[in-house]
Amino acid sequence: MVPLSHIAVLGSTGSIGTSCLDVVRQHAGRLRIAGLAAHRSVERLCQQVSEFRPNWAVIGSEEVVIPECGNDGTRWFRGTDCLRPLIRAPEIDTVVCAMVGAAGLPATWEAVDAGKRVALANKESLVVAGSLVMKRAAETGAQLIPVDSEHSAIYQCLQSGRREQLRKVILTASGGPFRGRKRSELAHVTPDMALKHPTWNMGPKITVDSATMMNKALEIIEARWLFGLKAEQIAVTVHPQSLIHSLVEFDDGSVISQFSPPDMRLPIQYALLFPDRLVGPAKQTDWTRAQTLELLPPDLEAFPALRLGFEAAARGGTCGAVLNAANEIAVERFLAGELSFLSITQVVEDVLNHHQFDEQPSMSELLAADRWAREEAIRWKT
Ligand code: MG
Repeated sequence: MVPLSHIAVLGSTGSIGTSCLDVVRQHAGRLRIAGLAAHRSVERLCQQVSEFRPNWAVIGSEEVVIPECGNDGTRWFRGTDCLRPLIRAPEIDTVVCAMVGAAGLPATWEAVDAGKRVALANKESLVVAGSLVMKRAAETGAQLIPVDSEHSAIYQCLQSGRREQLRKVILTASGGPFRGRKRSELAHVTPDMALKHPTWNMGPKITVDSATMMNKALEIIEARWLFGLKAEQIAVTVHPQSLIHSLVEFDDGSVISQFSPPDMRLPIQYALLFPDRLVGPAKQTDWTRAQTLELLPPDLEAFPALRLGFEAAARGGTCGAVLNAANEIAVERFLAGELSFLSITQVVEDVLNHHQFDEQPSMSELLAADRWAREEAIRWKT
């Protein structure tokens, strides 16, 4: 019998976190929630604690009052410092990193350092510090399994061939709500327009990233580190149906893809149950219906973020940290009405071009580059 896996879900009240709990509900014999952590959605966290009865519950924000949840078996903690003992607790073998943004890096690092299985939904951990995280994972034996749908697809496709015979990975992109628009048509895009995604239902930050295609830039950098690729081994294809989640090409010319309806519960379950593939909550394909699949070249003029992603993946070093930090601030400023849609990518490009590049930064140098880029992006004016 396969032993029960004890899971900590960091970011349990967000979109990935709640999908993760859906997966756990369906596999009660295999998966158990041992820890839950949320930033500030305390009421939702409280409901989750009542249902899953974890040993640990952590609320990140120091300002939130811990409520009575009617479950004596759960120890409550407040403040992000408390994530460290939760992640390192010996009873926890799998950590789901589903926090938003570079704020997720310390927790990912802790889980990798402790040699846990890490179901990684926080792509920023690898975008910011991919070289250090992957090196540490190799040292500790931490098993890093991506939850990002594209990277999960690549991870799955790679099971069908030898790593040294891999030629290319091809990331699919839905193209977001503005696919097919010219650059000039994007000048007056408002936050409301950018927040409507055609195929995926996600949080606001990643939805805006999807509209600018900066999300794909982050994913190019994530793939570069996760799979140890050169930038020229990565390609992007626009696939509006979001059914093929990515592809890999081997030396013999065979291209292997992973196909399934867009539903994050599938890559989450894959990461939690790997290498098993059990019946789960994710939607299934209806093979009685016609399927149309389009694969189109991306428009780099309308979506220059892609070019920045390839550049940052090629240069490595501090580029990922700077690109990500500048983008996080630019998206906040766009949502606050301070910046135009096209300025988001412009801010990132300007900050990236001005930064003091370091090819082999330490963690503290990466965090310093992140802070510097945020300050630059806050000051940026058209
Ligand atoms: Mg993705």
